[in-house]
Amino acid sequence: MQKRRGILFILSSPSGAGKSTLARRLMNWDKTLSFSVSATTRNPRAGEIEGREYFFRSHTEFAQMVDNNEMLEHAEVFENFYGSPRESVENTILEGRDVIFDIDWQGGQQIRNSGLASDVVSIFILPPSLKELQERLKGRGQDTDEVIQNRMKKCREEINHWAEYDYCLVNRNLDETEEDLKNILKAERLKKYRQLTLEGLVSDLYNEVEFGS
Ligand code: ADP
Ligand code: 5GP
Repeated sequence: MQKRRGILFILSSPSGAGKSTLARRLMNWDKTLSFSVSATTRNPRAGEIEGREYFFRSHTEFAQMVDNNEMLEHAEVFENFYGSPRESVENTILEGRDVIFDIDWQGGQQIRNSGLASDVVSIFILPPSLKELQERLKGRGQDTDEVIQNRMKKCREEINHWAEYDYCLVNRNLDETEEDLKNILKAERLKKYRQLTLEGLVSDLYNEVEFGS
């Protein structure tokens, strides 16, 4: 019997706070973790590979996926569309494996309000300060000044939703935040309603008591 259902581990934050870096670290730590590769209409950044960071799609292709109900959630973020394809997520959690999502607050809300709500663990990542956030966006070296300014303007809208999440971590130090995320995942995996074999085990234990002595 399947030991437990997989968890939908949702990471959200203002752009640049560190969620992609943290997601990568978690996946290095536990190779059974799967990443939900989103579809997006935005252009690839240097170094991004189709199917690894994103599925890069035209507006028409993206709209088609939405119409075909292929998206678990989807939203417009920074003038582009982003969405999480449903099928691979549903198959992965049925196998008892956990899936990491790097999505914004709108996607987080949609998944928490879906039929998968009891499988969701959501984490909001805050930067220690806005100055540090801007430095991280600049240091990432992947966006123009205009894009960075736009992301800084939108960060308040994302931060507004921090209290909707199960956990909120301030990403001051990468090693410490990574450790906190691992601890959350380990504890959430042990929640009794996620351990599908417990009832059977307890009933076996009762039988041993009755017939064993
Ligand atoms: P997001 O996915 O939230 O947009 P990234 O993971 O791309 O953010 O991180 C943005 C930049 O900040 C990256 O260059 C990353 O290496 C750096 N970074 C992330 N967390 C920290 C941290 N705790 N301290 C210093 N730099 C960090
Ligand atoms: P970026 O363009 O920097 O890769 O991502 C921009 C924002 O879109 C980030 O906040 C990221 O979390 C969010 N995002 C990425 N994929 C998805 C998705 O599938 N759904 C939603 N709702 N947001 C996403």
